[in-house]
Amino acid sequence: MAILSGKVALVTGATRGIGRAVALKFASEGADVAFTYLSSAQKAVEVKEEIESLGVKALAIASDAASFEAAHNVVNQVVEEFGRIDILVNNAGITKDTFLLRMSEEQWDSVIDSNLKSAYNYTHAVAPLMARSRKGVIIYMSSIVGLHGNACQVNYSASKAGIIGMAKSVAKELGGRGVRSNVIAPGFIQTDMTNELPEEVLKQWQTQIPLKRCGSVDDVANCALFLASDLSSYITGQTILVDGGMGM
Ligand code: NAP
Repeated sequence: MAILSGKVALVTGATRGIGRAVALKFASEGADVAFTYLSSAQKAVEVKEEIESLGVKALAIASDAASFEAAHNVVNQVVEEFGRIDILVNNAGITKDTFLLRMSEEQWDSVIDSNLKSAYNYTHAVAPLMARSRKGVIIYMSSIVGLHGNACQVNYSASKAGIIGMAKSVAKELGGRGVRSNVIAPGFIQTDMTNELPEEVLKQWQTQIPLKRCGSVDDVANCALFLASDLSSYITGQTILVDGGMGM
């Protein structure tokens, strides 16, 4: 039997990249999947159709994860449609990279709001439901940059480090209610986010990765599947690096 059969998952930011791969992986393992996006309406239609073609239900909602009220509305909508939420993946995220001395308040605020406050917004909205049903899984998408820092990413690394602290606190608060909370810290994964980087920077990164390749979105989705399933039923408060050994 498919390992997420009968489960309901909500993935933020799933029109592209890692979120899309996670949504499709969960659907291929039997979960009904709701997902959000910011503005890629056509891509959302395509992902919804891809999920449905796997024989499960899909729901696509345009909603800014940085908005507290909108996140709560999304969770209510998913519960209305699918009855409950078993798995939340806080994946939506952006970068606005520049040197600290050039970083505007807007560049700081928008990255913190989209990456960190968004995770709070959705966790706050699903926690009461999961606590009441005495089960649930929350997965946070951090980054190895949240552990090690990176030049020109003061805003991004702060948001990703914050996520790790949040996830551990959630694990401690909600563990007694059967809710598990874990973090994935991807290294260098090929998506639109990293495609913006110049070729020579990409090559330089690759030489520093012990497995000598960039990660694929499926590398991350496979880890998400493990954390979402009962295969990881005694794992909570952990950060798993999916980085080819880069962050050792
Ligand atoms: P991506 O290809 O740029 O896709 C980002 C997704 O998030 C899109 O679906 C986008 O929707 C959505 N999104 C962005 N801001 C949003 C918001 N405010 N509200 C709702 N949805 C929003 O990114 P990715 O590379 O797959 O990254 C996914 C996550 O993994 C991010 O949290 C990122 O920080 C993390 N990560 C990525 C890497 C990497 O190497 N790629 C490494 C470490 C961590 P639209 O299509 O509508 O814009």
